[in-house]
Amino acid sequence: MQIIKDFALRWRQGTQGRRYAMAGSDPKCPSTMDALIRGTLGQCPRCSHGRLLHHYLKIVDHCSTCGEPYGHFRPDDAAPWLTILIVGHITMPIVLALEQSFELAMWVELAVYLPFIVLLTLALLPRCKGVILAVMWATKAEGSEKI
Ligand SMILES: [Zn+2]
Repeated sequence: MQIIKDFALRWRQGTQGRRYAMAGSDPKCPSTMDALIRGTLGQCPRCSHGRLLHHYLKIVDHCSTCGEPYGHFRPDDAAPWLTILIVGHITMPIVLALEQSFELAMWVELAVYLPFIVLLTLALLPRCKGVILAVMWATKAEGSEKI
């Protein structure tokens, strides 16, 4: 029982220390998980009041509320990669289940699957970019063009 208590104490101390070490030296900075949630919602990972993206996928230069700079982050292909990963894992089981259950004509399959996949991809892409930016911000993975 003492081992569990020691582990819980060390884990708690470790997560508290990591919480501020990962997100920044400011004790008011959010935890990494809070930053990820805010990034998913397209909000500033630091303050959650400003926007992270504008014009669908453009990264803002800095937060309009707290002034945190984001323009130097270069997520490159990480957001499309994450989007493809999620869309593939959502759509493929549905497609395979429908293929085994029904014998649909090819034009019906294309008429159903393509719009679903395109809309899901367009809906998830900004969310995934927000997640990637939040990860980069929380882990201080500075871009190559640092301001
Ligand atoms: Zn902000």
